Amino acid sequence: MDKKILVTRSSMPPFEEYADEIKDMWDNHWLTNMGVKHKQLEKDLADYLGISKENIALFVNGHQALECILEAFQLGKEKNAWGEPKNEVITTPFTFASTTHAIVRKGLKPVFCDIKEDDYTLDPDKIEALITDRTCAIVPVHVYGNLCDTEKIEKIAKKHNLKVIYDAAHAFSVEKNGVSSAIFGDASMFSFHATKVFNTIEGGAVCFKDSSMKKVLNEWKNFGITGPETTEFIGGNAKMNEFAAAMGICNLRHLDHEIEKRKRVFEQYVKNLYGVAGIKLNLGQNAVKSNYAYFPVLFDKDKFGKSRDEVFDLLAEHGIGARKYFYPLTNSYECYEGMFDVKDTPVAYKVSLQVLTLPIYSDLKIDDVDRICEIILNNC
Ligand SMILES: *Cc1c(COP(=O)(O)O)cnc(C)c1O
Repeated sequence: MDKKILVTRSSMPPFEEYADEIKDMWDNHWLTNMGVKHKQLEKDLADYLGISKENIALFVNGHQALECILEAFQLGKEKNAWGEPKNEVITTPFTFASTTHAIVRKGLKPVFCDIKEDDYTLDPDKIEALITDRTCAIVPVHVYGNLCDTEKIEKIAKKHNLKVIYDAAHAFSVEKNGVSSAIFGDASMFSFHATKVFNTIEGGAVCFKDSSMKKVLNEWKNFGITGPETTEFIGGNAKMNEFAAAMGICNLRHLDHEIEKRKRVFEQYVKNLYGVAGIKLNLGQNAVKSNYAYFPVLFDKDKFGKSRDEVFDLLAEHGIGARKYFYPLTNSYECYEGMFDVKDTPVAYKVSLQVLTLPIYSDLKIDDVDRICEIILNNC
């Protein structure tokens, strides 16, 4: 049996560095509720992203961050001229469960829009046909770190007075023309889950345009408590703890180097797989600095000879854990049975049947990349 390779492997700082970072917590015994580490990480992240610390709030995870921002914007509360709630949110089904679940869990109604063939992000040319007098927001996803067509999306949003909230879980450290992915739309959610390019074990953040949102989000994530004796909102608990923040402080110091190493893995895959008939790679976008978070490959059985599922099984036989990411589409989940139709998003459906994300992480050996590609290419 070959040695096992998983689809990803969490980045960790040297043990001593982390131990050193958390040492002073044994002096002050402050473990959560916006402590020293939390404040430090917030500032470090703002500096890294080139934004003010008044435009970022940290969370226990990306999902809670997304739920919180949907709630803090009071989506679904406004009524249209007919007295109906404006509760429809235009979004993509080609995403992780979190995006769709957050919308539904906040009492909103996802309206699924198809994606583009080239980069798998929301197709802006198909958005306007889905806008009704009940639409309140657009929630696009920078899938695999590919940035959405933010210009077109935000132009449509402005015309129809809609909020734009990006699920940027995949896009931390991605830049377009030197500008961080954190500045688009009304807000962007980042995930710092262990499997993401930058992690705080579990964690997340929202970056937002209107700095007055900071106070509101900090209250929402702490039970809606607004003062020592006042609780104005029915908030939840979504605070990042000090150990997680300390992990983030350490990991952020190494992030650019980790991404450099990911780039080497990425380039080796491209070297091996580029130009093969029936294989489509995700090579990146114009003027966009990638974070090399994922390596999605589309397999066309007619031209390549093997289907995505066959390649998946073949790799599994060799102990290699690729992932059908994203399959199935969220609009075909069992929990949403009868509510949506994958036929409404044919491009997303086709991609979901062909896509496989291959292992990529900073310490993946170049030899292992070659071996993975050999298995894919030779065992016809
Ligand atoms: C990881 C992820 C999330 C959720 O983030 P968590 O930090 O795991 O809660 C949301 N959306 C997408 C696209 C993700 O990949």
